[in-house]
Amino acid sequence: MTIQGHEDDELPGEDLAKEFYAKYEIRNILGKGISSTVRRCTEKASGQEFAVKIIDLTVDAESKISKEEERIATKREISQLSACAGHPHIIELHDTFETNAFLFLVFEICQKGELFEYLTEVVTLSEKRTRQIMRQLFEAVEFIHSHNIVHRDLKPENILLDDQLNVKLSDFGFATVVNHDHELTDLCGTPGYLAPEVLKVSMYEDVRGYGRPVDLWASGVIMYTLLVGCPPFWHRKQIYMLRAIMEGRYSFYSPEWDDISDTAKDLIKGLLVVDPEQRLTAVAALAHPFLKSDDVITHDKVIISKKSFKSAALAVIAMRRFHIFHFNPQPIQVAVVKHDPYSVKVIRKFIDAGAFRIYGHWVKKGDNQNRAALFENSPKRDLKDCC
Ligand code: ADP
Ligand code: MG
Repeated sequence: MTIQGHEDDELPGEDLAKEFYAKYEIRNILGKGISSTVRRCTEKASGQEFAVKIIDLTVDAESKISKEEERIATKREISQLSACAGHPHIIELHDTFETNAFLFLVFEICQKGELFEYLTEVVTLSEKRTRQIMRQLFEAVEFIHSHNIVHRDLKPENILLDDQLNVKLSDFGFATVVNHDHELTDLCGTPGYLAPEVLKVSMYEDVRGYGRPVDLWASGVIMYTLLVGCPPFWHRKQIYMLRAIMEGRYSFYSPEWDDISDTAKDLIKGLLVVDPEQRLTAVAALAHPFLKSDDVITHDKVIISKKSFKSAALAVIAMRRFHIFHFNPQPIQVAVVKHDPYSVKVIRKFIDAGAFRIYGHWVKKGDNQNRAALFENSPKRDLKDCC
């Protein structure tokens, strides 16, 4: 059955999902996975909006996993979500429905969508914004780890943002329970975010399994990506990328990393450590100086008079001028702009923003050492066709 006015996707027939349709009105698509579609929906009784993940158990002709396996996996996802319920930075599961052919998971809606889309829009995040997002992410990770759950698929696509841009960790499809940190052996996750020990356990016989630290590695990859808009490990040939991950080979290359603080780099270095035993835990990450800094804007705290707001604003402007004057005493030189425009930060940001619009998903598809290649003025087939 297809609902008029929506995308042409088949929706579960009314007869199969009577209970769900009795309570909710279904609307546009918010996102898609391998065997699921997430749609906006409205609860009829309250008029409140939610997001419903509809898992189709009928299409297993080409799928590698059977209908029954999919059902079991979703039930596991529901149980992990229930175990982690009540945390402000973990997506809330509101309702579930089950039929022979479909499963419906009704979640709180994240109006600002994926962190990935947000990053694509803004190109890179400031240290301050990165700090706010990473702090909320680590709080969520610390919470799930304290409940003996490993997420195993942390990435900007699975970190959603509510209308206040608060983090909501989602997609517990690969999440699992661990009793100790060496018991997992299956290869799952997303290539660019896989920790070295996950790759090693699937390649060599005599290595120990993995556990909670894989989420800290992925968090390091995310933090790196937020700050410069490119992932630390990427190569067109995936095998080279996997080798770089196993060796922990990445760099803070110039000029993108030149303006980024040593404290931010230090936290990334503590996360992208090949030996999981030496890697920072979520608790240790939260205690790191980068996250301890207190420049978080809490919306409910800012109640100040108009007068004090004006003087505060003037002080900020004065400080900003001082900052610019103090740290950028050199005016932009025409010769530099002519010969190496990409080395000038303001121009670099402008170019990168344009690049996002032309090529789409830098984060997923771009060659992180190759942004300056935009100046070559030839079509970048490799950027468009890779992956
Ligand atoms: P999959 O396991 O198939 O990857 P996800 O749970 O990650 O499924 O959902 C797929 C996409 O749907 C997400 O990446 C996001 O774009 C969108 N989405 C999922 N849940 C929500 C939500 N609660 N609010 C808004 N969008 C959502
Ligand atoms: Mg997902």
